Amino acid sequence: MEQTLSIIKPDAVKKNVVGKILDRFESNGLRIAAMKKVWLSRAEAKAFYAVHKDRPFFDELVDFMVSGPVVVSVLEGENAVAKNRELMGATDPKEAAPGTIRADFAESIDANAVHGSDSLENAEKEIAFFFAKREIF
Ligand code: ATP
Ligand code: MG
Repeated sequence: MEQTLSIIKPDAVKKNVVGKILDRFESNGLRIAAMKKVWLSRAEAKAFYAVHKDRPFFDELVDFMVSGPVVVSVLEGENAVAKNRELMGATDPKEAAPGTIRADFAESIDANAVHGSDSLENAEKEIAFFFAKREIF
């Protein structure tokens, strides 16, 4: 069993498709072990995406992530990290496979509906960033 972190980004929350996205997880063998809605501060968004701080798109990424509330969850299941990435689809929705979350709900490489941890190691760090142990079931 693995755990991974999912963020439903501000664009998808604004579009009111939170339930539709959560259904993709639950219908594909992932269980919601923790969940909350939160509006990130600039400092939090910068810290969360610190690995990208030297990339040219960093400021836009932070602006976008603080543009509205997000829904953060811990997903649990067999191969949860890879399974979530597979359900999400490619970073650029134009390249995302049909039937993936980004193909169905995302507009652009900035407003791409969801975040998912990219490794087990990062999943542990990202889960700890948002949730205390006693909030994960
Ligand atoms: P995420 O980390 O959000 O799950 P990802 O792992 O598919 O997405 P990363 O390479 O980690 O992609 O990039 C993080 C985020 O930065 C992307 O989700 C996207 O919104 C933004 N981003 C990545 N590459 C670009 C780019 N070339 N131009 C603009 N924004 C980008
Ligand atoms: Mg990433």
